[in-house]
Amino acid sequence: MRCPYCSTMDNKVIDSRISQTGDITRRRRECLQCEGRFTTYERVEAVMPMVIKKDGRREPFERDKIFSGIQKATEKRPITTAQVEKAVHDIERRIAAFSVKELPSRTVPEAGSAQAHFKHTEFDLFCDNFAEKPDEFAWELIEGTGQNIPQLDEAIGKLSTNWRLERMPRVDLTIIRLASFEIVHRSDIPKTVTINEAIELAKRFGAEDSAAFVNGLLDKFTKAS
Ligand SMILES: [Zn+2]
Repeated sequence: MRCPYCSTMDNKVIDSRISQTGDITRRRRECLQCEGRFTTYERVEAVMPMVIKKDGRREPFERDKIFSGIQKATEKRPITTAQVEKAVHDIERRIAAFSVKELPSRTVPEAGSAQAHFKHTEFDLFCDNFAEKPDEFAWELIEGTGQNIPQLDEAIGKLSTNWRLERMPRVDLTIIRLASFEIVHRSDIPKTVTINEAIELAKRFGAEDSAAFVNGLLDKFTKAS
């Protein structure tokens, strides 16, 4: 590692620490030439999928883009850089856990492919949610929903008369998936509360008719489940 003061390559490690999460090593170094001190961070690089753009181009998964997106969304809130870092870390971990080589950005996914359904844009929405609710419950919901997409989509698909699932607006579908998961797996939360929160999300992130659409579909979902 090159010294930031004199550009010499030779240095010695004077202190080494592993982060609480165990995945980052922080090394304090001293330049052998000018004795300047600096810090380096080492972390394992997860093998992230390529993101497929609408026009078919592949782009690398951009960690920095997600980081700055969350940071921008939370700049007026009492959320620390460390919390943003943790959120990005969690998102990366979840995407890496899918072990897919490519992740469609906006292309229509193959029916039944859970990984393909989990889109880059949906993570943007999740990040926004995280900015509002930086708690364990939010992540439990995201993780649970992510793991149950095929089952949820089957149930949602049966109830949707106007839209084929693949053509449903992505934001609406994401909100409906999250709420459906909550209705099925968190019986301690009143269904009316879940539906009202979903409607609020739809108003905030969706199109003009999203709230009504989400409301209607979740009503049917509640009656059917
Ligand atoms: Zn130096």
